[in-house]
Amino acid sequence: MTTQHTEPLQLTTEEQAALGSGGGFTSTKAVGDVPAITLVDGSAGVRMQDMSQGADHLGLRPALPATAFPCATVMAQTWNPELVHRVARALGTEAQAAGVQVLLGPGVNMKRDPRAGRNFEYYSEDPYLTGVLASAYVQGLQSQGVGASLKHFAANNTEHERFRSSSDVDARPLREIYLRAFQRVVRDAQPWTVMCSYNRINGVPAAEDRWLLTDVLRGEWGFEGAVLSDWGAVDDRVASVRAGLDLEMPADRGKHDRALVHAVLAGYLSARQVEQAAERVARLARRAKAAARPDTRWDADEHHALARDAAAQGLVLLKNDDAVLPLVAAEGPLAVIGEFAVKPRCQGGGSSYVTATRIDVPLDEIRALAGEALVEYAPGFTADAAADAAPDDPALLREAVELAARSRTAVIFLGLAGSQEAEGFDRASIELPQEQLELLRAVHRVQPRTVVVLAHGGVLRLAPLIDHAAAVLDCGLSGQAAGGAVADVLFGRVNPSGRLAETVPERIESTPAFLNFPGENLHVRYGEGLFIGYRWYDVRKLEVTFPFGHGLSYTTFRYSDLVLEGSAEGVTVRLRVANTGSRAGREIVQVYTGVAGSTVVRPEQELKGFAPVWLERGEEREVTVQVRREDLAYWHTALDRWVVEGGEYTVGVGASSRDIRLTGQLALTGDHAPVPLTPGSSITEVLANPVAAAELGELFGAAFGGLGDSQAAGMGLDILKMIGSTPVQRFLTSLGGGMGLAQVQDILDRANAAVGAVPNGR
Ligand code: BGC
Repeated sequence: MTTQHTEPLQLTTEEQAALGSGGGFTSTKAVGDVPAITLVDGSAGVRMQDMSQGADHLGLRPALPATAFPCATVMAQTWNPELVHRVARALGTEAQAAGVQVLLGPGVNMKRDPRAGRNFEYYSEDPYLTGVLASAYVQGLQSQGVGASLKHFAANNTEHERFRSSSDVDARPLREIYLRAFQRVVRDAQPWTVMCSYNRINGVPAAEDRWLLTDVLRGEWGFEGAVLSDWGAVDDRVASVRAGLDLEMPADRGKHDRALVHAVLAGYLSARQVEQAAERVARLARRAKAAARPDTRWDADEHHALARDAAAQGLVLLKNDDAVLPLVAAEGPLAVIGEFAVKPRCQGGGSSYVTATRIDVPLDEIRALAGEALVEYAPGFTADAAADAAPDDPALLREAVELAARSRTAVIFLGLAGSQEAEGFDRASIELPQEQLELLRAVHRVQPRTVVVLAHGGVLRLAPLIDHAAAVLDCGLSGQAAGGAVADVLFGRVNPSGRLAETVPERIESTPAFLNFPGENLHVRYGEGLFIGYRWYDVRKLEVTFPFGHGLSYTTFRYSDLVLEGSAEGVTVRLRVANTGSRAGREIVQVYTGVAGSTVVRPEQELKGFAPVWLERGEEREVTVQVRREDLAYWHTALDRWVVEGGEYTVGVGASSRDIRLTGQLALTGDHAPVPLTPGSSITEVLANPVAAAELGELFGAAFGGLGDSQAAGMGLDILKMIGSTPVQRFLTSLGGGMGLAQVQDILDRANAAVGAVPNGR
């Protein structure tokens, strides 16, 4: 871990304690010569609330206008770190202009279950994709002198009982799935702050988890910034400071500050720990203030254009039969159906909600491209009807169907209303409202050229829909410029290139956490272990409606000439990709790896690299993807560290997790990772060590009083198999050997030394 230079604090313990809690809802305190700073949401836009009207953490009170960029889900669907970096830079400029020093994002929690209420604020079901994109976000934002807050640390994967629930997760999934994106972002981008979550992890509140906040975050990963709490996450500030929390948010009215001072005076807490927390807050505040540029100006039109570009790259064309898209304006009248076409839903509810500078209305944007005269609109349904509502207005349905029947094509906007998904609660189902499905079926019956445009935060079940649409364009919650972006893609001004960052399952019952979500009695058991998202559908051989990584283009791509090369750094993947269709487009080349014959349970394939590639019509290019060796590691629970296994790795390269175009094999040498022998090790484990085998092997044999191999074989027995799992100590000291523990230990020490195995804690 890097040691940091910190200016000494000339503050009393009382002042240090005061520095460690908020000064207001979105600010810290100015204490001594340490300035106060402002921290606001969020990851998709700056939510600087108008303080004259009060602030809240649910996005309810008005905020200053800011650009509402696409939410994290849609940004993830761009698979474009450079674009994420650009958007984050724009956020940084807006934050600077608003006098904000830290933006409370990005959120990098895994999408464990499609029902989780804040999934729209998170990137993906995959830790690698999340880690790469969130690193780009942090780097982009911090390049503007505005700090990021990596959240919600950790295993915060449900809104249900989010303040009290314990995420009960085993070591491997915790490391390999739930902490992995955090680890990558800390190592690659060093966010100024990390925000601990509300929930407990294996029973310990995140805000009081020393293992998490200090041993792992700082000790193992080298985090140099400040740890702050989610709003209202701190219960026992003394325990939190002891665990490594530096800043409790929001203001605590002095109660917790006093408790801290009291704990120091009473000797429950070391003064140094309070000082250390204060030093980290001071360092954050000083560096943030030094980087502040309050005279920053930004151009709302420019940022709106960037939001449109980002949304366009994040839209996913899920289906496009008979090339019904792109639409050709002159081809005939167009029916636009669905209230979302005039009242677009473009962002999620809660703390990330932004007061947009403007909103593109899809119907207007479509009219602008298709020509006013050719487009007619019918609402078809009421957008905020409850998910299970029956068709409430047959007249609306009839009008829409008649319009569709007399048009050349129907574009129907479906989705979830704001009231159906937001921070603070999980969805009960992943269904579209029934009345919308009925409308779609009725429209499709009269108009086979029906195109569905979807607006939603969490994944929807699309099985009931896809047979009733010629094309489906998934636009998630794409921010204030979504309307323009949709029109661009519908009319081919933009060739779609978004790819799903989350699997669309066939049904809720086949999802990985179905039986363990959202938990009971304040515990969520992560029973599916490592197998979330595509890892689960792959290993269970389940059909999915649309796989992870899926997305169509108006052109086609050909993959060829895969070459793999191993080195100490990892694997270099080289291939050629050609644009074989009729227009320029962007392909997302995805690299998945798996290892045969692993000694532990592992997913069949895992995303370990990708490259967005722009290709002109007819162009062919060599593409190189670097897979880092550390990304191939699994968490070894006996050694308590990452280990890369030696063996034959399969590298699959393709256009989605279920559209692997090229496959290659590569042998990799594993890490030297011998598990140290202890008296509790089994005979099989001991005999695998040459020194121990030489010294103890005879003894094991002798223990059977000369029973030779042939005699055992005559009885149809394999002695080693029978005694193999016996702990060596038990065998030697009581079952057969008669050797003392000290003698056994001496042999094991030499055996360990011979193979370089380092016993834990010795
Ligand atoms: C949310 C955080 C947010 C904070 C401040 C909390 O309710 O969980 O994501 O940053 O409020 O608004």
